[in-house]
Amino acid sequence: MSEETAAFDFAAELEARGVSRRSFLKFCGALAAAAGLSASAAPRVAMALEESVIGAKTGNLYPVIWLEGASCTGCTESFAQIETPDVARVVLEMISLNYSDVLCAGAGHSIEEAKEQTIENGNYIVVYEGAITQGFGGNTLRVAMETGEEILEHAASNATAVVALGSCAVNGGWMAAYPNPAIATGVQGFLSAKGLDDVPVVNVPGCPANPEWLMSVLVQVLMMGGLDALHLNEMAKPEGIFGQYIHDNCERRGHFENGEFVYEFGSKEEELGYCLYPLGCKGPQTKANCGITLWNNRRSWCVQAGSPCLGCCEANPADPGDNWVEVNTPFYERQRDLHIGDWFFQPTLVAAGLTGIVAAALIIHGFGMKKTGRMDGGAPFEKKRAWDEKHPEKSIGQYEYSVMDGDPVQMQDAQKEIAKQYDQPEAAADGEEEGR
Ligand code: SF4
Ligand code: SF4
Repeated sequence: MSEETAAFDFAAELEARGVSRRSFLKFCGALAAAAGLSASAAPRVAMALEESVIGAKTGNLYPVIWLEGASCTGCTESFAQIETPDVARVVLEMISLNYSDVLCAGAGHSIEEAKEQTIENGNYIVVYEGAITQGFGGNTLRVAMETGEEILEHAASNATAVVALGSCAVNGGWMAAYPNPAIATGVQGFLSAKGLDDVPVVNVPGCPANPEWLMSVLVQVLMMGGLDALHLNEMAKPEGIFGQYIHDNCERRGHFENGEFVYEFGSKEEELGYCLYPLGCKGPQTKANCGITLWNNRRSWCVQAGSPCLGCCEANPADPGDNWVEVNTPFYERQRDLHIGDWFFQPTLVAAGLTGIVAAALIIHGFGMKKTGRMDGGAPFEKKRAWDEKHPEKSIGQYEYSVMDGDPVQMQDAQKEIAKQYDQPEAAADGEEEGR
């Protein structure tokens, strides 16, 4: 196929969907941004997509099996709502979704057979959504007479890679929160316990995961150099997506630096768009590029919409007890600890520390503002100090909540119990059977 023909075919493909060349390139820029690449990578993404779409039209589709674990199907919902008709569909048409519990029109024997054939042929990607539940002999999830554990183990054994989509798939998420009766866990930990360490796992957390993250992972793995292109970090998360704190790319960050906070929904401070940290924003301790990729077809994201970040992307694949729900609840309370980069502050230190840090930052900032002639007088730090004086019970540094009603010993016992179940799932399940 000549280059002219390929270009013509692709242009026709876009035109048939009512997609302009401009919006296609914009989409490629968004995919590059979602992958953490610079804007200059957009033409490279465009070229890879063009070549792959043309390849797909001649029958070279990439097989994908989408398995549903213990989930609310929110990640499928999120993915299915990529705007239509649009350029995203062009990408979707490059993959052959040979199996999906939720999206496939077929059902029963025929669809199970399609899955089996795909596994036999190899060279496919598994997208796994939801947790793996090991309690009650694995019977909390059964599809076509098999337990969820058996389905994943079988599908992963011959896969090129498994994408653990959503925080539940990464380390159990909601399902693994205390007391975790179903002994929920994540894909990577499960496969490792089954001796399938050599199957590459890509962890894409989120509740739900951003559809553009999955698109960008598929584009990079399938079209732009395989798994190496993702630069997975030590938690097997793509570094371009999960390498920076939400806090680092937040449009309210300036208010955080100025000590301008929202303490109550519906307040004047909220109207002014101040920082949501006192309302429980977990942006300083959560790594994801939500503020760059955005949500709902790149229109907005949690903090822009007025909600504190709930930290839904925090998921440690090595520990189901370290799931985002348990770590971050209650969602609208100030967090127990403050993480900024690799620094970690105890709550009692935050008041003094923040005052010191903010004061130092403001002095430096103030000099800069003065020097450039952008202000006269001081920065508006007094406003926050005055508010704290009037509301001492809510000032930074006071935090009364603990996940287990303020009982750290109870909390530690619960965590140990979960860790025990994780290390010896079968023994724990037997124990439960006996106890019933
Ligand atoms: S604490 Fe939250 S709202 Fe405030 S700057 Fe950080 S990410 Fe933004
Ligand atoms: S901003 Fe926070 S709560 Fe919202 S999607 Fe991103 S990580 Fe999750």
